[in-house]
Amino acid sequence: ACVAIWFRSDLRTSDNQALWLACEAARAQGLPLRGFYMATPAQWQQHSVGPMQLDFIERSVNQLQRALASLGIAFDLLHCDDFSLVNVTVEEYCQRQGVKRIFAGREVEINEQRRDQALAQLTRTIGVGLQFTDEHCLLPPGSVRTQGGEMYRVFTPFFRRWRELLGSEAIMPLPVPAPLAPALPEPAELSFKVSNQGSKQDSHHWPVGEGAARQRLDSFIANQLADYGQERDFPALDGTSCLSPYLAFGILSPRQCVAALLNRFPEAMAEDNSPGRSWLAELAWREFYRHLLHAWPQLCMGRNFNVLGDDIVWRNDPQEFAAWCEGRTGYPLVDAAMRQLNQTGWMHNRLRMVTASFLTKHLLVDWRWGEQYFRRALIDGDLAANNGGWQWSAGTGCDAQPYFRIFNPMSQSEKFDPDASFIRRYLPELAHWPLKQIHHPGTAASSRFTEPSLFATAAYPPPIVEHSAARQRALTALAVLKKSA
Ligand code: FAD
Repeated sequence: ACVAIWFRSDLRTSDNQALWLACEAARAQGLPLRGFYMATPAQWQQHSVGPMQLDFIERSVNQLQRALASLGIAFDLLHCDDFSLVNVTVEEYCQRQGVKRIFAGREVEINEQRRDQALAQLTRTIGVGLQFTDEHCLLPPGSVRTQGGEMYRVFTPFFRRWRELLGSEAIMPLPVPAPLAPALPEPAELSFKVSNQGSKQDSHHWPVGEGAARQRLDSFIANQLADYGQERDFPALDGTSCLSPYLAFGILSPRQCVAALLNRFPEAMAEDNSPGRSWLAELAWREFYRHLLHAWPQLCMGRNFNVLGDDIVWRNDPQEFAAWCEGRTGYPLVDAAMRQLNQTGWMHNRLRMVTASFLTKHLLVDWRWGEQYFRRALIDGDLAANNGGWQWSAGTGCDAQPYFRIFNPMSQSEKFDPDASFIRRYLPELAHWPLKQIHHPGTAASSRFTEPSLFATAAYPPPIVEHSAARQRALTALAVLKKSA
């Protein structure tokens, strides 16, 4: 017999309430504890989990297995194709291992919630205990509400209330539990059974494990946090934490991040002008979007948050979409950003906003196309943040950027990559272009004819659309959102 803990997107041993409670239960009942992870390849496919993300998860699961072995906790990798087969697999596992109780972190997405409702029925039927904990947010989704009991639709009052609620308690991450038994021998490497070769892509430039995540957090807090407010918008600088993949899979908890932040800048909760404040706000945005999914599950099903968005007539030109995906729009900032995404699995936040705005407004491609492309390409792909970011950019979302505010890719380029060093890093073919033409590709396109020698070697396309005409077209198409503006 044993107690079991099902790890999902909470692949850590520290600050893990489910693990902590499972260890307590195992100790109290004098039983061993087993951890398990469920690989669901068809479900991943359906959820657009990308090949680099899959590799990252697999490596992280292996790292977790090693960490658990050092605590005397055995680990199993279970496979079932999709969520419809989860109960059969869990029931069989419970019988095989004699599981008496299961602990697991709750997940907010709709299919995951349905899976857990079915699991609760199963465990009742077969007489196995089941306990869920909240591992993803500092405050569980549903717990931050207006005085009238509603979920906030706007970030700023949500953030205020979130801080009030958090301010009343000490933010103390749980430590790694004490070993339950002598360390187990080094476990054999596990691998996901995925159907084809192309479904995994090397993610090794992202180190895995809690140690690596913690090191990155500590170094960010010590060296970058004080300047985050000034540097976070410049993609050429190393100004943000790059912790998103670790937060997306719970290798690091948001509580650990906030505790480290407050340790350095204790006033950040109360004072707007604290140097830690803008990073605190980003962590709160992450929670806001998760709370939104909980309150409006239809967001998981591709629905516009603002129903007026249902009347937008998207152009959805497949060739233009392909040009955007491949970084061939002829707007250097947009293209460099897409190449950063395609090469590294990550994109800077400023550029996520610029590229999402360009796709939905300049090209009038449905935000769902971009959302899905990002989801597959991003190593930190996360339904809540991705959907929130896309709908914000398209103007259909909660607390959205108004439809008439359309990022100008040329002024964004001048402002946020003034010396074009980011652009040149990802578009080496433009290395010799004069700065003015990098920022204003329209002028570059015309000078192809007046200064052909400069452009002879650059196989770089002219702009796919002219900015002011595209802007006008977007204003007309998106005017259906006007009633809400
Ligand atoms: P930092 O600036 O160091 O921020 C710290 C953490 O706060 C991040 O790791 C992340 O967990 C959270 N965070 C920061 N900004 C946001 C935000 N705007 N919304 C929600 N959480 C935030 N983030 C994802 O984690 N996964 C996604 O799939 C995702 N898709 C996005 C799509 C679009 C169109 C946009 C505009 C934004 C998206 N974001 C997404 C949010 C944001 O761009 C990334 O979280 C951020 O760039 C990650 O870099 P970082 O870890 O250095 O962030």
